[in-house]
Amino acid sequence: MRLFSRVGRRRIATAVALGGLWFLLWRLADVVGVLHHASLWYPPAGLTFALALVLRRAQWPVLAGAVLVGTALARDWTAVLAEPAAQALLIVAQAGAHALPLVLAAVFLRRIAAMRFVTDATPALTMLAVWPLAAAGSAALGVAVVVAAGGVAPGGAVALFLPWFTGDLVGIATTASFFALSLAPVLHRLLGPGAVVRDDDPAPVRPRPATVGLLLVAAFGVVVLIRTPELSQMAGGVAVASYGPMLALLLIARLAPAAQTHTALVVLVGATMIVAEPATSTSGHPQILALALAAVAQLGVALRGLAHLSERDSLTGVANRRAWLAGARRRLQRPGPATVVLVDLDHFKAINDRFGHGVGDDVLHAAATQLHAGAGDDAWFGRIGGEEFAALVPGDADEAERRAERMRRALRRVPAPAGARGLVVRASFGIAPVATALDLATALRAADQALYRAKTGGRDRVAHAGTAVAA
Ligand code: GH3
Ligand code: MG
Ligand code: MG
Repeated sequence: MRLFSRVGRRRIATAVALGGLWFLLWRLADVVGVLHHASLWYPPAGLTFALALVLRRAQWPVLAGAVLVGTALARDWTAVLAEPAAQALLIVAQAGAHALPLVLAAVFLRRIAAMRFVTDATPALTMLAVWPLAAAGSAALGVAVVVAAGGVAPGGAVALFLPWFTGDLVGIATTASFFALSLAPVLHRLLGPGAVVRDDDPAPVRPRPATVGLLLVAAFGVVVLIRTPELSQMAGGVAVASYGPMLALLLIARLAPAAQTHTALVVLVGATMIVAEPATSTSGHPQILALALAAVAQLGVALRGLAHLSERDSLTGVANRRAWLAGARRRLQRPGPATVVLVDLDHFKAINDRFGHGVGDDVLHAAATQLHAGAGDDAWFGRIGGEEFAALVPGDADEAERRAERMRRALRRVPAPAGARGLVVRASFGIAPVATALDLATALRAADQALYRAKTGGRDRVAHAGTAVAA
């Protein structure tokens, strides 16, 4: 039977593990001594949303299983054993009511993310709008189930809605992105290839000291803020004091990859919830702070996405002309000699004419990769024109010449794309030393003249601006 095949067993085990995690996170509320709803104390919303974002449709039985297991574990088991049929129905109704709006919202977000016209910033910004809707749906359906089961009189339902809504909203807003980023690789390993939609930051990144420092300062600020009754009770006190951790989070978003920003958010919100007095949590202050932090984190990630878009060349992934020039000027403020290497692919128009623009694009991408590798990790590399690249190399002209030769040889490793047998990629190089940021334009002109001589001298070679003056 398919259910008991190796894949089937693995899916069931994963659902049970995730259901257990769902339950543990829910009960964490008891451990830190705060109410179940209206805060990070409803994190299963974040986990459910993240699973719906990350898992492929074929794996959704795992998600359904996890939500059912988590809901069942959270119920009073003496009641379950007393009337199993009625309780089983309630578990399914509760699990469905909670998960359905979150899954629908995640499907919507996945559609948005898959659209061609959106920017890197769109998913992050859409989340800010989608979360409240998903949380409202979960709360409304959840309250309806409780009322239908006779758990609360219809008149009392209104009083349940807001805390439930806040609980789900804070849960999704503060933890969903973190779970999605951290679960994707784990699920991929557990469930096999094709199980996971996408992981945004696949390469593990080590937190920078600056990020960790900022995070610690912000967490300390949160503790002081929540633990100082005069401050948290003062009108506007929380709003003013929240600015510190919000600013820290924004700086982290600017400095570090998205995964670290979302981890920092979880740490800050976790600190808030753990140190919050029950009295302040019923007044809603910690929740307000958590939501503000979540919005800032998402905005920071969106801004980073936009900055990335404006600085990268979309075809090759290297710095574009504007970013290269700005980066080169910044690097030229540092002490030590530097040299510009200009590269122009040889007879590239002929490659396009012979093999088509698609092949031309593939070649450009592969050439950029090889040239970048040849230039070295410490060189500042970018695409400054159609089939023109530039590298700012630390060191004198001799060093730059060695690197340019390395780049020239590296181009031989560009593979011929399918349907382009016999294609060879070559380039000519022009080198000019540059002293300061003010001389960059002059150095680029000199390198361009040298490049022109490399072209007229037969192409596939390196020419030096120094010899241009002598010649
Ligand atoms: P030379 O050796 O003298 O540099 O000859 P060339 O053919 O490389 O030089 P030319 O400046 O005449 O042509 C550059 C070509 O690069 C023309 C243009 O269509 C092509 N090109 C520029 N950008 C792109 C791009 O993004 N994709 C593709 N496929 N081709 C591009
Ligand atoms: Mg050219
Ligand atoms: Mg060319």
